[in-house]
Amino acid sequence: MNPDPTEGLFKMIEARRDELVDLTQTLIRFPTVNPPGEAYQPCAEFIGRRLKERGFAITYVHAAGTPGDSERHPRINVIARRETARRGPCVHFNSHIDVVQPGAGWTMDAFGGLVRDGKVFGRGACDMKGGLAASIVAVEALIDSGAELPGTLEISGTADEECGGFGGVHYLAERGWFCTPRVDHVIIPEPLNVDRVCLGHRGVWWAEIETHGRMAHGSMPFLGDCAVRHMHAVMDRLEHDLYPKLAARRTDMPVVPSGARHSTLNINSIHGGESEAAGFPAPCVPDSCRLVIDRRFLIEENIDSVKGEVRELLEGLVREREGFTYDLRDLFEVLPTMADRNGPVARSTAAAVGRVLGRKAEFICSPGTYDQKHIDRIGKLHDCIAYGPGILELAHQPDEYVLIEDMVNSAKVMAMAARSLLFGTA
Ligand SMILES: [Zn+2]
Repeated sequence: MNPDPTEGLFKMIEARRDELVDLTQTLIRFPTVNPPGEAYQPCAEFIGRRLKERGFAITYVHAAGTPGDSERHPRINVIARRETARRGPCVHFNSHIDVVQPGAGWTMDAFGGLVRDGKVFGRGACDMKGGLAASIVAVEALIDSGAELPGTLEISGTADEECGGFGGVHYLAERGWFCTPRVDHVIIPEPLNVDRVCLGHRGVWWAEIETHGRMAHGSMPFLGDCAVRHMHAVMDRLEHDLYPKLAARRTDMPVVPSGARHSTLNINSIHGGESEAAGFPAPCVPDSCRLVIDRRFLIEENIDSVKGEVRELLEGLVREREGFTYDLRDLFEVLPTMADRNGPVARSTAAAVGRVLGRKAEFICSPGTYDQKHIDRIGKLHDCIAYGPGILELAHQPDEYVLIEDMVNSAKVMAMAARSLLFGTA
């Protein structure tokens, strides 16, 4: 009887546990903080060198001219590709190499890669260098497991996810790196928990509302028109008209946490009036007030109606409130995306979770967006999910860590899923 090849693959990954920890530590020690986009080049080159030794063809793509790109902070991406002589699909693992600022509250060096209590600590351990390391070890073990693999394996380390992905996946997708037939299936090892398969995310609309007034001396406000009072009227409408409507909308997308299964609106910032010069307020009636809104919408909603209901609310105030004028400016938008849970990549990953962890994978969607949006919308590549070892809630926190056991298990899941995708048995 032939030995079970999956068991052999798992054993090989188990045997590489220390190597996986070591790789994660090394990745954490590159302080790839974004902004400004520190140490991208050495981090990308480290990944490139390692995978070149394993027979991958390496390409570095400099996203020249994208936001933040400079001589000091070049936006460098690495793509490693290993083709075989046997026909088959291309399975791609995409991880962002950038991390957010460490911030306050750390009880250890944020870039030290400390190992303690079965965890690797450091900024990016969870989001998402632990996932990147697990995907590298998974792919290497799959290659070394001796199976004659068909098709192509690809691993990328990309820039700038934490600020929109413009110097990373967005740039690459626009240049054809993420589309069929070059790539067929994508797994993004973002931290969504080791037993969950993330199919996509809600949509985003950021906009700025500005109300206008007329300046006058603060001692005679009746001679002016207060833009902040006009904004108060806007907030009142948001509070009493829009918020109840949003709370009543519920999506069929399996978004976690469940509070995000509704439409949401965050009032991101508000600025009105003159700034306090030398700590003392200007004695003026404010002639402008700006409010930034962050609206997260559902796959069942349409972006035009999302914008339309805010505009309608403002137009209502134009009709009803004397002197009310406004501007509404779009700042940023992303459409919701959701992969087919019966598609090859979701199915094979869920099956592998079942095998490795002995429990059913949960299908979820993310409350916020990540680079899947560019792969889906620009690359038109829809067989794309996020799956990785990190614990979602730890992302961007002080003392961020990834569990070593989760990394090992997720590497097994990724290797098994990739193999069934390559062989077309998913
Ligand atoms: Zn991330």
